[in-house]
Amino acid sequence: MSSYREIKAECYEANLLLPEYRLIDLTFGNVSIADHRRGVFAIKPSGVDYRRMKQEDMVVVDLEGRTVEGSLRPSSDTPTHRRLFQAFTSVRAIVHTHSRNAVAFAQAGREIPCLGTTHADYFYGSVPVTRQMTPEEIGAGYEWETGSVIIERFKGIDPAQVCAVLVHSHGPFAWGPSGNKAVENALALEIVAEMAWKTLQLNPGISSIPPSLLDKHFLRKHGASAYYGQNQNCEVPEG
Ligand SMILES: [Zn+2]
Repeated sequence: MSSYREIKAECYEANLLLPEYRLIDLTFGNVSIADHRRGVFAIKPSGVDYRRMKQEDMVVVDLEGRTVEGSLRPSSDTPTHRRLFQAFTSVRAIVHTHSRNAVAFAQAGREIPCLGTTHADYFYGSVPVTRQMTPEEIGAGYEWETGSVIIERFKGIDPAQVCAVLVHSHGPFAWGPSGNKAVENALALEIVAEMAWKTLQLNPGISSIPPSLLDKHFLRKHGASAYYGQNQNCEVPEG
């Protein structure tokens, strides 16, 4: 039996949530689950139809990029996931989708401003958008460099407080302490993107909510004085 059975099972189940939540079209999406202690992560295989995918198909890759278990090729986005796991050591699960409303903001090169409490319950402020990638970054190590522009954008932002990003001209990545939670964050991102888009149509001059309301909603669910619900949103729980 595989010694990576648990992360493969969690990875498989989280990947199946993407079509269930209508977060993906065709095969544009993937979830990975890390075991930081062992320096590996499980990820969806490349280009496999969700309806035919099996748990055994999940590919286990180490943080240096070597496949340690699996007969299929890992997702073509694997270097992005690897780059993020190396930099964001508190993140255990990463989700990439091309969900349509989040992609619309990414393609417009616009961050998603925090316009209401639905957003504030999940993300502590705007969901940032990266800069455009250079021809050199696109030409060599494109997927790895996609991770690098995300990390560059998060200078000064805590990935435990804003657990999603938009890659310019591409789409969203979201993360969390488990596969289910990371997919929930990707779904929340898509919902708040749709809400923000419609809000900006109705009132293009609207500003972000005030810090007092942002703090109230985010901090009651996350952080040291959280009192709402049971689980942290972005971070791996202690212990
Ligand atoms: Zn993509």
